[in-house]
Formats: sequence, C-alpha cells, structure tokens
Amino acid sequence: MRLYREVPLEELSGMADAERFRHVPERRVSYQIDRNVNYTNVCLSGCKFCNFHCRPDQPEKAYTLDFEDYLPKIAEMKALGGDQLLLQGGLHPKYGIDWYETLFRRLKEAEPSLKLNALGPPEIAHIARVSKLSYHDVLVRLRAAGLDTLPGAGAEILVDRVRKFLSPAKPTAQQWLDVMGEAHRLGMSTTATMVYGHIETLEERIDHLLALRALQDRRPAGTPGFRAFICWPMQLTGTELLRLADAGRLPAGITLPGEPAWQADPSCRWRPDEEFLRTVAIARLVLDNVDHIQASWLTVGLDTGARALHAGADDMGSIMIEENVVSAAGARHLLQEGEHTLRTAIEAAGFTPWLRDQCYQPR
Ligand code: SF4
Repeated sequence: MRLYREVPLEELSGMADAERFRHVPERRVSYQIDRNVNYTNVCLSGCKFCNFHCRPDQPEKAYTLDFEDYLPKIAEMKALGGDQLLLQGGLHPKYGIDWYETLFRRLKEAEPSLKLNALGPPEIAHIARVSKLSYHDVLVRLRAAGLDTLPGAGAEILVDRVRKFLSPAKPTAQQWLDVMGEAHRLGMSTTATMVYGHIETLEERIDHLLALRALQDRRPAGTPGFRAFICWPMQLTGTELLRLADAGRLPAGITLPGEPAWQADPSCRWRPDEEFLRTVAIARLVLDNVDHIQASWLTVGLDTGARALHAGADDMGSIMIEENVVSAAGARHLLQEGEHTLRTAIEAAGFTPWLRDQCYQPR
C-alpha cells in the first residue's frame, strides 16, 4: 500500500521496469493478432457494469451466432495474420457442455490450425451447473473438443464484498480461483485479469493481486499457470452502476471514484493514466511468479499503453480485430491501421516488436 500511495510514479516505474527485465531480459515487446468473437449476448448474470448482455426474455436484443457466422470472421482474421479466436459470451440458461463441445469441434474441423482461447471461469462454472458436472470434468471435455487456453475473464476484483454488489450471479472469488486452480492442475495455460476503478478500495486491489499470486505459487511444477496478467480500468459509460450512482441510489458503503467518500483519500486523486501506470507497476512487483504483464491499450489508448512498457509491461496484447464488450461501455481505442500502428508504437517506446503465439512463442 505504501508503494501504491506514497512512492512517486517515476520511482515505482523504475522498480517495476527492473523486475520486468528479470522476467524478459531482452528489449523486446510481444504482441498478438487475434479476434474477439462474442458468441451470444444472452446472460443470466446481469452484472451492473455490463452494457453488452441482455436477458433471455429480450428477444429483440438477444443473439447467438450461427456456425456460418464464424467462417468469414476466421477467414478475415487469418488474412490479417491472426491465428486465434478469443471466444467469450454470456451465461446462457440453455447452453451446457454439449453446446460448447459441438461448437469447438466444428470450429476445429473447419480450421484445424485455429487456436481457441475461450470462455473463462464464470462460463466454466455456469456449464458445470447447467450440465451437473465438476469443473474438472468440464475442462477435460472442453479441452478434448478443442479448447486450447483459458482466459482470466470475469475476475473483476476477487473480493466478495465487491462481487456481491456488482455481479451477484457470477462465481464468488473462491469459485473463480477454484476453476483456475483446476485448469492449472490439468496443465492448461491461462491468464489473470483485474478490472479496477469502480467500487473497490485500493486495499482490495492488493488483496486481488495476492490471491492470484498465492494460486500461481500452487501450480504444479513445470506447468505455466497464469502466463500473463492484464488489468484495465472499468468503462462505466451507460452502465447500470453509473445510473445508480447518478441517482444517489448506491447502498451505504458502496462508493465510486469521483465521489467525495472515495476521494477523501488524497493519495487516490490520480489522473487516469497515472492510475493505470501505477496499477501495472504494482502488479509487476507483486506478481513476481507470473512471466508476462500486458499493457491493455484497448481501454487506455495506445499512448498510455506504450508508457506502460516503461512501468513493468512487456506485452502489448492483441490487435483485437473485433471487440464488443468493453466497447459497449465506452472504450473507443480500436486500432484502425492494425499491426503497423502497434509495431510503430512499440518501436517509438524503444523496444523491438515481435509477433507471438498464445504461449508467448515467436510465430
Ligand atoms: S459481464 Fe459477462 S457475465 Fe456479466 S452480464 Fe456481461 S456477459 Fe454476463
């Protein structure tokens, strides 16, 4: 907490930078080309920060992609040099293990070289509930059907005080960690995320990082566990959470940044870019057992993302050919010019860009 609140940004960034070069000694920064496909927006969860989902009883808004919808998306991604689909969607009341197995198998049959970085702990827990299976059995069956890696989606802040208010139908912090622990025991490669800047306290951000670190320490020897950590600020525009705050209807003890109670702490009055850089740097220092830290430029913009390369990050994430979820809540930083722009930003920051696969190997 003293690092977070008291140490000047330049000094904090320098410490994180040194830790970054301990993990990745070369002056190079990786990136990836993939496509985010949101297979359905029907979701039982109703998280208060999510503009993307709709309820099952809203047929005018609900969609589920047909299998034929995937094929041009894959072809376009391959033409742009991509090799992976990041498949994420809502917690659909009718979709159990069979639905996902069928989808994954058909995708791999249509394009055998395709990598599937798919779902996340909330979806795994949902499938387990719908199909009455253990997390272990869901993961084993999905891997057999084509799941390659498990993204760290749906973590937000792994503290139940926060989750009970923001996303009460999602897995608890312990359930999220249990799914990831099971994936690690199976030798799967995963990532960890944190979405900050809403109702959490700074201490709860640190609790989140320490929970990830403890789980990573328990991964079986020789397995990657969390290959990377990615954090970004919550996009609040148009969300139910912001509407409740604007109407003065947040319950006692729940406060958003920008409100007097939160800002009573003078150390928290950072500009958004400084807060992001501080958070990346702290993550690099706390997560000393995770190899890579991603600069999530999608929500903070390319300039701030590139500055994070001097605050502990060694990866610029993805070109992200399609993205519907955070952009539904105000993130507007999609790259129009694609790979060339990302490489130029990495070079301007003083690093050599290199294109990686999902396991951080050169392509
Ligand atoms: S964030 Fe995910 S789980 Fe929550 S409402 Fe949106 S789609 Fe559903």
